[in-house]
Amino acid sequence: MSLLDLRLQDFYLSMWKRDIIKVSKLRTYIKLKTMVEQESYIKLNLSKSQRSCVAQLRCGILPLRIETGRYIGEQREERICNFCTENSIEDESHFVLDCSLYTELRNEHFKDIISDVNFLQMNNDEKLYHILINFPRKTAKYLVDAIRKNLLMYIYPIVIIIFSD
Ligand SMILES: [Zn+2]
Repeated sequence: MSLLDLRLQDFYLSMWKRDIIKVSKLRTYIKLKTMVEQESYIKLNLSKSQRSCVAQLRCGILPLRIETGRYIGEQREERICNFCTENSIEDESHFVLDCSLYTELRNEHFKDIISDVNFLQMNNDEKLYHILINFPRKTAKYLVDAIRKNLLMYIYPIVIIIFSD
């Protein structure tokens, strides 16, 4: 690579790093994406829905309240999870690591990971990074199951109303 190429690459990297921090929905992407290179999960043989869920999580566009609340003008601190009593913002970290709605799924997909002593000592950013980067296939399976459960929770009350007569 020539000196000019290296300079251009450095320039592009610094512009890229400067620009992505301005986009609030890239909150998870910024934590995961430290290099401009193809992500390892792209090379895995994931199903279309698995790949889509991973990409949506990374880009902050999964239908979680942190994102959907934005559509209706809710303030960030108002975007509280409707499915547990933790009074936490329903963001990617809460969805993957903490929400009690998905405890069974978490135990099913991440049992060995989340019971590891080193994992328990990490903060949530480190935990999310560890799971997504080191266990992309397990993450993809968890995401598909968890988002399915999340969407069913929105449909369930409608089904109850329709069939309540
Ligand atoms: Zn929750």
